[in-house]
Amino acid sequence: ADHCFEYPAHPDDYNWSTLFPKTIEQEQKNKQVEFLDVGCGYGGLLVTLSPLFPNNLMLGLEIRVKVSDYVNDRIQALRYQHPDQFQNIAVLRTNAMKYLPNFFHKGQLKKMFFLYPDPHFKKAKHKWRIINKWLLSEYAYVLAEEGVIYTITDVKDLHEWMVKHFVEHPLFERISDEELKSDIIVDKLYESTEEGQKVTRNNGDKYLAVFKRIPDGYNP
Ligand code: SAM
Repeated sequence: ADHCFEYPAHPDDYNWSTLFPKTIEQEQKNKQVEFLDVGCGYGGLLVTLSPLFPNNLMLGLEIRVKVSDYVNDRIQALRYQHPDQFQNIAVLRTNAMKYLPNFFHKGQLKKMFFLYPDPHFKKAKHKWRIINKWLLSEYAYVLAEEGVIYTITDVKDLHEWMVKHFVEHPLFERISDEELKSDIIVDKLYESTEEGQKVTRNNGDKYLAVFKRIPDGYNP
């Protein structure tokens, strides 16, 4: 239940060095999370991207306590086995639909990932979908201009829903397939997560869509 979630009043009130002790305590005190995996599940994407982007801090958000505990154990074990690696990834248990502005400053994030989000098939439950027009404004707030949101799903109806909401939103535009060819992350979205592997085993389809945060033209 929601009363179980602790969250800071402001991003600076959170003790980030507990998640990234080596980087923030010992090396760069002001380093901030730049990649966010929303609903990270068992953490496969974080583990895959960690060595590819050693200078970026990456955080997975996961609402289920057992799953976030598992990801934390997985990261601690990797750090133990490879002492100088996996210092840039961590997991936080929270409800990503509620508390993002408590954890992240405006324009802080460079990349956000929504990989195989829960589809909530029934129309009455569409409001629980993690991509919706209200939350897109919040994602635009925490994302830097030119920042990128990656989505992938095996559910065609959900894919179309996500594309529709992004395209209709004034602060996002879809990135063309041509432009995506040079992005080394795209290939990783299909197989690196546990859900992606499950879809492959079941011979499911995979629908990818990637969007860019366009400038809002507001200069205070
Ligand atoms: N992205 C992972 C993957 O590809 O393997 C997990 C996909 S799984 C179908 C969706 C995940 O999102 C679940 O682990 C679920 O607990 C998590 N989730 C759902 N709603 C959430 C929320 N509001 N905040 C954080 N995590 C959420």
